[in-house]
Amino acid sequence: MSTSGMAGTALPAMDVAGRIPRLRERFDDAGIRALLVTRLPNLRYLTGFTGSAGMLLVTPNDAVLVIDGRYREQAGEQLAASGVPVRVDVGISQARQREILGALTAEVSDMGLEAHGVTWAQQREFASAWFADAELLATHDLVEDLRMAKDPGEVARIRAACAIADDALAAVLPTLVDRPTERAFALRLEFAMRERGADAMSFEPIVASGPNGAKPHARPTDRQIEPGELVVVDFGCVVEGYCSDMTRTVSVGEPSEEARRVWETVREAQAAGRDALGPGVELSAVDAAAREVVTAAGWGDAFSHGTGHGVGLEIHEAPRVAATSSGTLGVGHVVTVEPGVYLPGLGGVRIEDTLVVTPEGPLSLTEFPKELCA
Ligand code: ZN
Ligand code: ZN
Repeated sequence: MSTSGMAGTALPAMDVAGRIPRLRERFDDAGIRALLVTRLPNLRYLTGFTGSAGMLLVTPNDAVLVIDGRYREQAGEQLAASGVPVRVDVGISQARQREILGALTAEVSDMGLEAHGVTWAQQREFASAWFADAELLATHDLVEDLRMAKDPGEVARIRAACAIADDALAAVLPTLVDRPTERAFALRLEFAMRERGADAMSFEPIVASGPNGAKPHARPTDRQIEPGELVVVDFGCVVEGYCSDMTRTVSVGEPSEEARRVWETVREAQAAGRDALGPGVELSAVDAAAREVVTAAGWGDAFSHGTGHGVGLEIHEAPRVAATSSGTLGVGHVVTVEPGVYLPGLGGVRIEDTLVVTPEGPLSLTEFPKELCA
């Protein structure tokens, strides 16, 4: 479990045990006496358990992870490793899990469910059968909000994932001159990241050349990458559960004059967004800083998405960096800054870094150089 991808570098421990106590501090404001955690990234965050199924009940004095038989051994090992005082109860059937949770919540009147992690069918089942005597309350982002501020161990994992991505791009970018297809280049990138210790991809790499670059989330195709075209490469990997995210836009050979102007504008906008990051800064102000540069250059309508998003156990998590975001950045928040301009026919330019907010200001975790000509 301790593969960092950086040979010989052990990643510092994370403070997993401190998380459930911080979650309990939020119960009063949410009007709940207990919370049933069912979103898997939240389970992992609170306990270190990485199985594909499980439920964590957190009450004021107790925390119980209810899993099925497949994960008995893994859960015991992972909880011991993270040092979290959580009991594990194995319910080999749904009926048995219901009995376990029912007994634990017999005295609980107001119980929170994660509104974004429970299906309609589950909610009906919980309300009618599992917790028929309790009042079930929808909660929003109780754990997600805690996850925004990363501890140094979490930042170290994101940084390790970013370093692998930097290194992989350096290794494969020179092969663009061989005119690979988008799909072939994406595969090389993925292979290079896995070779360097990535546990997984943060998402399927985006390699969008020429006109395909005008679609912000284009999937790699069999289109061959031609000289003089812009290529948007957006990718990242996972180290011990934590994601990286980076975009570079390059031209193989000499780009057109218009492509160069768009690229310079996006680079300037990205720098403005990065420079705006800091503790206490409004998220909407970061978006505005980047957007103003694009708008002033006349491409405001072609910047068709928010400026960035949080990165951590999920590739897209809180906070969102957008014009409509409320709230401010804090120390330890890890966010992307990724303005883009998308021009049908010509293609697209997006430049993205993953950064951590420190007391002194922003620190970029992705470090690959930004150069238009590959
Ligand atoms: Zn990205
Ligand atoms: Zn992103």
